[in-house]
Amino acid sequence: MIENLGSFLSIAFSDRTLCTRCGTCIGGCPVEALSIGSDGYPAIDLNRCVACGRCGRHCPGGGLSYAQLTRLTFGDDRDADHFDGRVDSVWIGHARDISVRMRAASGGAVTALLLHLLRAGEVSGCLVTRMVPEEPWRGEAFVARTEAELCAASQSRYGVISVNAALKGLRSTAGRFAVVALPCHVHGLRMLLAEDRGLRQKIALIVGLFCSSSVAPPGVRDLLRCGGIGRTRAVVDVRFREGPWPGRICAIGADGRRHELHRSNFKDGAINYLFSFYSPQRCLMCIDGSAEFADVSVSDVWQRESTGGYRCEGESRLLVRTAAGRTALENALISGVLEARDVTSDPVFRTHRKHVYPKQVTNRLRVERRQKAGLSAPSYDRTAASGAPADRRRERLKSAIHSIEMWPGLRYLLLKGLVSPLGEPIIWVRQQLKARRFRP
Ligand SMILES: Cc1cc2nc3c(=O)[nH]c(=O)nc-3n(C[C@H](O)[C@H](O)[C@H](O)COP(=O)(O)OP(=O)(O)OC[C@H]3O[C@@H](n4cnc5c(N)ncnc54)[C@H](O)[C@@H]3O)c2cc1C
Ligand code: SF4
Ligand code: SF4
Ligand code: SF4
Repeated sequence: MIENLGSFLSIAFSDRTLCTRCGTCIGGCPVEALSIGSDGYPAIDLNRCVACGRCGRHCPGGGLSYAQLTRLTFGDDRDADHFDGRVDSVWIGHARDISVRMRAASGGAVTALLLHLLRAGEVSGCLVTRMVPEEPWRGEAFVARTEAELCAASQSRYGVISVNAALKGLRSTAGRFAVVALPCHVHGLRMLLAEDRGLRQKIALIVGLFCSSSVAPPGVRDLLRCGGIGRTRAVVDVRFREGPWPGRICAIGADGRRHELHRSNFKDGAINYLFSFYSPQRCLMCIDGSAEFADVSVSDVWQRESTGGYRCEGESRLLVRTAAGRTALENALISGVLEARDVTSDPVFRTHRKHVYPKQVTNRLRVERRQKAGLSAPSYDRTAASGAPADRRRERLKSAIHSIEMWPGLRYLLLKGLVSPLGEPIIWVRQQLKARRFRP
């Protein structure tokens, strides 16, 4: 019997609050002793474990060294301690193929980059995601090897997905691969690649997605229940950004019909409720919102005109960080699969304040408060933001709202009200308040 498991295994085996469910420990275990358990967290087969400690070393859940990640990604010690991380150039663009663009989350730039790599033979597959048709409230990672599979995998899936668990399949597969990953996936992946030379040679590009939070598994299930879906209709997919940008949250029936799960678009409604009530605790303590250690990071373009409308509807924003990212972008532009303009010198597109705050200020304050109170919190080698009193109040309020997770029945009823006709006045008030900020 192996003694003292908590001292060398990944954080899920000693403190689940801190597990991001990135799947790195599962994908990196050399003897396949780990798998995704029925509760979505890593599960161990102690008969296989050889106590090598590798899963503990690569786990980003309990703490992160930004200095180490900087060295591993950029080969030097220059830590850019701001929300957008180290940026070589900034681009706004979209997939040239209109069907790819329309189906995607933002402008389809991620899918366009991957299509280029596949067509050029630079990769033989891409690690992307899909919802599990038999359990459409749950996402999974898989290797797309054809253009059709890649295009079907486009869009954002906001539920928790243990993407890095799928790396174990890559180790024994010939060829090189691109990976699409959230910031926590990228952290685990970079640390794993530093030790696993064989796997490192297989990863051609890491495309990071911006991430404010994911949604804990009950979130999507509750949303389906609110729509009476699941019990009454067969559903095979949940699409969070269906239709014209920014899209709507929809369930797709087995007959191909769409069932809208909310009464406004993605941005003005349900995603805010899902993030407020169903964020995993660990996401509330995550301080990387822009996938700082990816080769290229991609986000929506939420910047607005002075009149209130969005500046760039149906476009993606790309932050190129490394030489591999730059080469992939340049070649995708040359091949014509991607259309993009360089906006590096335009300060408007440099950062997005609304994303900087929750991650860089609010979440750091929460980590600091929890550490002082003796509660579990990840350790970072970046110090907490100084935080004005208003920031501290905002952090407390957000934590208080989130504590509704302790009463799942009440949370469900509240969500049900908010996505019903009763929630429409709230959407209207939100839209009016937003519009007021832009009135001359
Ligand atoms: C949980 C989550 C939170 C996000 N938060 C923000 C945010 O706060 N601000 C912001 O600007 N952008 C955010 N994004 C990114 C944004 O939603 C788009 O993914 C991004 O703009 C790229 O759009 P695209 O049209 O270029 O990508 P597409 O061409 O639609 O391709 C998206 C790719 O991402 C993959 N993918 C989808 N979901 C996941 C996942 N959970 N994990 C790994 N890969 C995945 C898909 O399989 C696909 O290959 C978030 C995305 C996710 C998944
Ligand atoms: S590696 Fe990821 S999935 Fe595994 S325990 Fe750590 S945070 Fe959780
Ligand atoms: S064999 Fe190593 S990597 Fe796998 S579970 Fe055991 S300690 Fe972790
Ligand atoms: S907020 Fe952080 S921990 Fe949560 S899914 Fe996004 S990157 Fe991972």
